[in-house]
Amino acid sequence: MTTSSQTFLITGVSSGLGRAFATAALAEGHPVIGTVRTENAATAFEALAPGRAHALLLDVTDFAAVPSSVTDVERRVGPIDVLVNNAGYGHEGVLEESSIDDLRRQFDANVFGAVAMMKAVLPGMRERRHGRIVNVTSMGGFITMPGISFYCGSKFALEGISEALGKEVAGFGIHVTALAPGQFRTDWAGRSMDRTPRSISDYDAVMDPIRAARQAKSGNQPGDPTKAAQALLELVRSDDPPMRLFLGDDALALVAQKLDAMRAEMADWETLSRSTSFG
Ligand code: NAP
Repeated sequence: MTTSSQTFLITGVSSGLGRAFATAALAEGHPVIGTVRTENAATAFEALAPGRAHALLLDVTDFAAVPSSVTDVERRVGPIDVLVNNAGYGHEGVLEESSIDDLRRQFDANVFGAVAMMKAVLPGMRERRHGRIVNVTSMGGFITMPGISFYCGSKFALEGISEALGKEVAGFGIHVTALAPGQFRTDWAGRSMDRTPRSISDYDAVMDPIRAARQAKSGNQPGDPTKAAQALLELVRSDDPPMRLFLGDDALALVAQKLDAMRAEMADWETLSRSTSFG
């Protein structure tokens, strides 16, 4: 179990889970570099723990700026022990109504931005033979829901990348975990959500109740970000962290349901699946 001080780099600390992760790590005495996108957010973040809370102005989709930003901040604050790729947002919209640009923006933030951050910290972690990478995915990176196909796709992608990267870097003392929350009370379904306007009436019956329910639930989600933050700290302290950690009763129940359904479907179609080899 790791109990010494660790330098954290957490993306998206202006609100929600990122803010809670940073607050908890600071409370445990760790230095925290937090990315933000406005000067106001930078000032508010640094005020949490002057001298230990270091704001880094960075949009993770500014791929050209990521490597030098990380190098500069490591020179200023010290080597990063723990990267938490938390920055991200949800796109809500029926696939047929949503544009390729919506999809590209979703993957830029949730996938390409996270990968850019990992590529920036990996050389140092590999050289030091030590590091933790926690990628905040979602239960929507394992189960799916209609109306957020681009979001689920982005989180599935980050799950797959996390799992494969973990196998590549295990020999270097670097652990990679996909942290997959259920529904948490943050700005995710409020100010942060990108909602594509409705345009095809055929989808009214599917999509209108989903949009209305998500808007009504925003601010009343069951998950408590401060408890998620305690779970993150326990994960980082562990010498043998899991490849994937779900957070919340909802995530556990829905993932268990999907696993059962997948097993049943595999069994139903087993004969056809096994019919495709030579000989
Ligand atoms: P949130 O309160 O909206 O926080 C999102 C954070 O990400 C904000 O700090 C935001 O910065 C930042 N961000 C967004 N795009 C960015 C970009 N391109 N570059 C840099 N920062 C960016 O929502 P949250 O729920 O805490 O979201 C955190 C992560 O948890 C996300 O990856 C989300 O998909 C995931 N998640 C959330 C839930 C949930 O129910 N809340 C469930 C599963 C997974 P600004 O303030 O500048 O916008």
